[in-house]
Amino acid sequence: MGKAVLCLCLTGRTIQENLNTLNDFKGTYDLAELRADFLLPSEWQYLKAFPLKAPCPVIMTIRKPGDGGLFAHPEEDRLKIFRGVTGGGYAFFDFEEDFANNDLEAGARADGARIIRSIHSVSGFPSGLETRIRRLKRHPTDLPKAAIQIQSAGELLELLRTARRLQGFEKILLGMGPIGFITRVLASKIGSFLSYSSPPEQSAAPGRTDPLTLQKIYRYRQIGPDTKIFGIIGNPVMHSFSPRIHNAGFERLGLDAVYLPMQIEDPGPFFSLAEELGIEGVSVTIPFKESVIPLLNKQSENVTATGACNTLTKKNSSWQGTNTDVQGFLTPLEERFLSDWQGERTATVIGAGGAARSIVYALRRESFHVLILNRTPERAKSLAESFGCEWDTLDSGGAKKARRYNRLVVQTTSVGMVPDVEGEPFGEYRFQGSEIVYDIVYNPSETSFLRRAMRSGCRLVYGREMLLAQALHQFKLFTGRDLPEPESIDLGF
Ligand code: NAP
Repeated sequence: MGKAVLCLCLTGRTIQENLNTLNDFKGTYDLAELRADFLLPSEWQYLKAFPLKAPCPVIMTIRKPGDGGLFAHPEEDRLKIFRGVTGGGYAFFDFEEDFANNDLEAGARADGARIIRSIHSVSGFPSGLETRIRRLKRHPTDLPKAAIQIQSAGELLELLRTARRLQGFEKILLGMGPIGFITRVLASKIGSFLSYSSPPEQSAAPGRTDPLTLQKIYRYRQIGPDTKIFGIIGNPVMHSFSPRIHNAGFERLGLDAVYLPMQIEDPGPFFSLAEELGIEGVSVTIPFKESVIPLLNKQSENVTATGACNTLTKKNSSWQGTNTDVQGFLTPLEERFLSDWQGERTATVIGAGGAARSIVYALRRESFHVLILNRTPERAKSLAESFGCEWDTLDSGGAKKARRYNRLVVQTTSVGMVPDVEGEPFGEYRFQGSEIVYDIVYNPSETSFLRRAMRSGCRLVYGREMLLAQALHQFKLFTGRDLPEPESIDLGF
């Protein structure tokens, strides 16, 4: 079976709007689906001529509300539209599983069109899906389709297993919603005839992505049956920048691999998904960095010490956990400052959350004397006790103490992150100008905390540097290779 094609879904209110969309995305899609249920009724008269004006084959679809569409008119109107456009050159007609109209179907086929016969499930995984899909092929040229809203990793697994059992059988198969997102990227791997994409602001189905993102960030065109899959597990995870980094690395090294955001409810089901897809490495993000640890076969010393794991790799059938945040935090400091560090090693760490734990561990390993300041005193105290540090809160008392621990000041709270970019976690503290100031927040790349430090003449380390460094360590664990020219990767902000 060949590679999956990419379909651009058109949901404009007018025919001209849809033609404009085809023009805007020229060169990024192979065929288009005209969702006539989004059109104004006054536009129906122009439907027949649409395929002639479109630069690609077109699927004709009129979806009813029960199947996730907008066509709330009588069924007779729908039939009238379908009849009116036969002979217009549509390449496909999408009819639902319960639709049957022999004359219409014969007419469409006589014009050279194929019939996509579709199951749409917006709530609950349909039972007997494989049998139902096979039965949808009522004529040799029919193309069965199932679009299933995926609510859990268990349902995703069921869809992937169905796809495996249907390998070699021509069909369209996709999981909707963030959990199902990977099936949209992996169309060629799971043997789906096509994947759907939408202009960014017009997604007609949850989880659908625009054609440029699918190709540029997720390597849609490069994926085939043997593509190795990596990814990031978390919840939520669709916003993650990690796919941009790892997929750029695969692209630059010409590796047959892809890195995907995998949203799951808890880390347990990931291991069955990994088995099904042959996954041998993933990043782990919030909220699973701690809860994944009991599920590991082996863990590195830094996972044991920090109680946090952000990387899983499979070796000889056993899953090993590592924490690359520790080294990722240190790498920019080592490269720019630690190699010729003079004098006492003192650091103030602002925050006592998950990231702070890895950072305090890293600093203590590098023989820093550390002061931990946190809004909630109990958390500061607990972290300080774990690693033999001093602690206080983010008030004037903390600011006074920080003057004794200020060769390095590390900001690890989420304050200052988008959207609250003016936020400042430690306004009580006045920079001297001699500090190295490190803010691990990476979006925006320059926080108001860093800007204030810069105005006082401090040397700065940016969160983006840590983000990249921890990902580069993961990339090496996943592939055994160094990611070339990481500084030129477009993180999208
Ligand atoms: P976390 O475990 O939820 O910890 C959040 C920390 O921020 C806690 O210390 C919390 O204090 C503090 N905080 C939250 N709101 C605050 C406020 N309004 N005022 C004062 N303190 C506040 O989160 P995390 O995983 O450590 O992540 C923290 C930040 O680091 C995030 O922005 C994340 O994106 C970033 N990060 C960056 C990298 C990188 O590679 N650059 C890696 C990991 C994390 P309380 O204890 O008082 O609640």
